[in-house]
Amino acid sequence: MTKRNLIADVLRLKSERKALILAHNYQLPEIHAVADVIGDSLELALAARKATEPVLVVCGVRFMAETAGILNPGKTILLPVPDAGCPLADFLTPDLITRAKEEYPDAAVVVYINSTASCKAVADAVCTSGNALKVVRSLPQKQIIFGPDANLASYIRSFLPEKEIIPLPANGHCYVHAGFSEDDLSEMKKQGVSIIAHPECPEKIRNIADQIASTGKMAEIARKGKRWYICTEIGMLDRLGELCPDQIFFGDEFAVCADMKKTTLQELLSCLKDGSGEITLDPEIMKAARRSVDYMLDVPP
Ligand code: SF4
Repeated sequence: MTKRNLIADVLRLKSERKALILAHNYQLPEIHAVADVIGDSLELALAARKATEPVLVVCGVRFMAETAGILNPGKTILLPVPDAGCPLADFLTPDLITRAKEEYPDAAVVVYINSTASCKAVADAVCTSGNALKVVRSLPQKQIIFGPDANLASYIRSFLPEKEIIPLPANGHCYVHAGFSEDDLSEMKKQGVSIIAHPECPEKIRNIADQIASTGKMAEIARKGKRWYICTEIGMLDRLGELCPDQIFFGDEFAVCADMKKTTLQELLSCLKDGSGEITLDPEIMKAARRSVDYMLDVPP
């Protein structure tokens, strides 16, 4: 089947099923072409919360589909490729959190949105890379157990020295964001290219970057310049090209998240046809996780 036919069939079935398609920025351009909402984890979560359609199809990875279900429990949540996961999220377990709480009884627990529903259920608050500083700053506790991304933990520590940030685990990272080369970035800078790094990048990369931003903020920043090297998953280059057609973007062709690229038009079409990939969660876990997600969404600006 041609791409054009696949797109036509997806759009027809989406309408018949009354489905809303939510696609992460890192998804393939043809998935963006059929999506109703394209955004970062926070933008997708907010769209899921207010969705009125009975079916939400999440083109992304598992924690995003779980978050959609947590925020809008009455809906059918479909993840077209059920084994699309996030290796960063896999670094953290509820058991690790429970043990850290025993070691640091006065600490609050903040988990990155890239974590399982079970981890969110035992946390005090959730955050995204875009609101991590705001969420951590809002908590009264000085000690903050933060997981699973140790790079994001160090980013928070660099801006909030008044807090004691305890990374959990100490080596949690995203292999895509950990792969950028200082030499490549220095060379780019010599050529007059400005750099935007995602907060999930290691400190040595963030230190070279001109700007640090979540994917949701990158387009806003990029409009104020011409040539940008983007330190995040390569799919963001397509998204930035859609949003800022007058700017030029470069990136590392090896910065590919294999799980984000599992969702194809064919997988999406199958999911819409047969309702496969439904995500269901224990109601108690959903209720507990909702508290920590709501904390994030309710923190004043
Ligand atoms: S890019 Fe990294 S953090 Fe994002 S889904 Fe892939 S592995 Fe997880």
